[in-house]
Amino acid sequence: MEIPVFLTLTSEYQKTNMPKNKKRSRKILFASSEAYPLIKTGGLGDVSGSLPTALKALQQDVRLVLPAYREILEQKGKVTTIAQVSLPLGRIRVLERLLPGTRLKVWLVDCPPYFDRPGNPYQGPNGLPWPDNAERFALFCQAITCLALNQAGLDWQPDLVHCNDWQTGLVPALLTRHENRPATLFTIHNLAYQGLFPETTFSALNLPWSFWSPHALEFYGKLSFMKGGLVFADRVNTVSPTYAEEIQTPEFGCGLDGLLRHRRNKLSGILNGVDKNWNPANDPALVRNYSLHDIRGKQFNKKALQQELGLSASAEIPLLAFIGRLVAQKGIDLLVKILPEIVKLPAQVAFLGSGEKQYEQTLQQLAQRYPEQIAAHIGFDEALAHRIEAGADMFLMPSRFEPCGLNQMYSLRYGTIPIVHRVGGLADTVVDSTPATLENRTATGVVFERADSFVLLEAIKRAALLYEHQKGFWQPLQQRGMRQDFSWQRSAKCYLELYEVTLTEKNGSLAA
Ligand code: ADP
Repeated sequence: MEIPVFLTLTSEYQKTNMPKNKKRSRKILFASSEAYPLIKTGGLGDVSGSLPTALKALQQDVRLVLPAYREILEQKGKVTTIAQVSLPLGRIRVLERLLPGTRLKVWLVDCPPYFDRPGNPYQGPNGLPWPDNAERFALFCQAITCLALNQAGLDWQPDLVHCNDWQTGLVPALLTRHENRPATLFTIHNLAYQGLFPETTFSALNLPWSFWSPHALEFYGKLSFMKGGLVFADRVNTVSPTYAEEIQTPEFGCGLDGLLRHRRNKLSGILNGVDKNWNPANDPALVRNYSLHDIRGKQFNKKALQQELGLSASAEIPLLAFIGRLVAQKGIDLLVKILPEIVKLPAQVAFLGSGEKQYEQTLQQLAQRYPEQIAAHIGFDEALAHRIEAGADMFLMPSRFEPCGLNQMYSLRYGTIPIVHRVGGLADTVVDSTPATLENRTATGVVFERADSFVLLEAIKRAALLYEHQKGFWQPLQQRGMRQDFSWQRSAKCYLELYEVTLTEKNGSLAA
């Protein structure tokens, strides 16, 4: 299958405007609120660990900048203080360390009152957002802006600042107030999380008054961090070509579709990649490694997983899995509704996730009612996620919307057939099994058209039928999935092209 990695830059544009020598090294400041393996709550963490590393491997001069959360400071590794700066919202130290397992330099914005606390980056132990999130991430944005302008005494000025999601959204806005600023790219990983705060917060942050306008940061009487990126960045992209189109419609635009349509000439989509640590051939979390050339090891992982989760040990019964945040976006409610039907097929289902209490409780109750067939692990467990990908036969992603989605790509790589709703990155990465695609050998999974329990159940039944024909249908599906190229190198090359386009447009000449 030809994966539509990159959209919107027409080939004509690329022919006439792309620099001949694409191999030049750029200075890139990559700003994110999380990056694996230092800190991760979801897909943003995966991307921010992998993409800067892949860019460095392509000879780019990259710095990754993150808040110095307590969880990061407690980890092993040499940390040096390289700068101290006073910013409008507080005094910070800039610490430097390497991203574990790489030579990538990470700059940590250290401000203990804001970042030295327990819990995850965005929420306290009570599951609610930290009450000072606006101040915390506004300070982070001020620090990124200072680094981007080479004002921290580090003698390093980026050509481009790559901002990610609302936590970095003020950076493109703040930078427009400076001459000789670097170019800016803003990547939307999920438009539904916009960083919205009351008007009083806008005043408290001392932002320039010109920003309080619907043409800037105001969004229906609130301060929107996300709009800082969408309005002011030189270019905006999102993490799959289909999501880049969808967010321009009222259905998926979260109230920002008009703005995104207005900026559509600067908007594109680049599919995320899969990190090297998601590889069944050498994944240390598995009881037995396996590969495209010898997939037999997968059955041992299934057996071990059934045992670990307390499910009945059966090689024949299909084992379905779900990993992710337990929120309506992921369609968990659609799945919960039909679980009593799924167990009748028969099938087993393994859940790993955390999120809204109502779903956590319902899943635990269902696991108690069907102990041999349903397992629910509530929490965040990276190694278990790997074991589930390896041990499951099918992977469920009934998301209502999905900017890219990573688990369907991990599933393809692990020979676990994805069953997905045709939206966003799911539509871009999985080819439905129809008589035609099975015949012409392009099918890689099962795709359904509507976020609806009944339609999902039909899709699962369709997958179960294919599963019954191991030699004829299932194994060829597994093999095709395992052959897909979702390497980060491929996506990183697309980002390099986008950086060049952004720089060229901003500087108005190819000599950028
Ligand atoms: P999101 O919308 O949450 O960013 P993605 O599919 O883009 O969704 O990425 C989610 C990432 O987080 C994947 O790497 C997935 O395996 C991981 N993940 C989500 N929930 C859990 C969990 N409970 N335990 C372990 N990993 C998880």
